[in-house]
Amino acid sequence: MKFKLNINKIINATLILLFPIECIGCNKEDAYLCDKCFLTIPLHEKVEPFEHPLQYVDEIWTATDYQNNLVQTAIHHLKFRHIKELAQPLSRLLIEFYDNATRPATDDSRFATRDLRYSIIPVPLNKKRLLERDFNQSELIGKLFSDYFGFELLADAVKRTRNTPHQVGLNKKQRQTNLKDAFIITKPDLIKNENIILIDDVVTTGSTLEEIAKALKENGAQRVMGLIAAKD
Ligand SMILES: [Zn+2]
Repeated sequence: MKFKLNINKIINATLILLFPIECIGCNKEDAYLCDKCFLTIPLHEKVEPFEHPLQYVDEIWTATDYQNNLVQTAIHHLKFRHIKELAQPLSRLLIEFYDNATRPATDDSRFATRDLRYSIIPVPLNKKRLLERDFNQSELIGKLFSDYFGFELLADAVKRTRNTPHQVGLNKKQRQTNLKDAFIITKPDLIKNENIILIDDVVTTGSTLEEIAKALKENGAQRVMGLIAAKD
């Protein structure tokens, strides 16, 4: 056991030597996204209008824009270089946005519900991609968000029924067809009468959120909101 632990330490030390922890913005060492760079990311100050019509999701809240270089790099490195530590600054975007927007002084009626309790559901990955990546980035972000506000994280309440192809390059209609009935509710008891926040890293047309919200509402969920780090 002790020996195994030391081996892990050696592997970690080697990895850090080979790939030192440095900020994706300024290359300063010790953090993947330093505080100074994080604070340059402009947060949405209010609910940005969502240009695609929504049928099942009540609102989509986005913390910032995907066009921001740091945001784009952070999401890319988390998903494709598997730097899980980047879930932390990405969840911080959601936490700060939600905290600002639900401040009691806000006059936006959509947020006049600071005391409303939500259950948090991360958008699930399909099995194939979960095997490739070994983690769901939305779940990492959702866990940090839930812990901060004391909301319940329902990580396995929704599952994908099949491996849907990538949505990239598809138009809205094709995305809808691609996703039709792609989600099932595995724990309907936990959904019934609940207010839900769906968490994801990026939103484009909202088709994925819509398809999940449809399944949730068919199972008796009340409000279904989307809270997304970056709007594409
Ligand atoms: Zn930096």
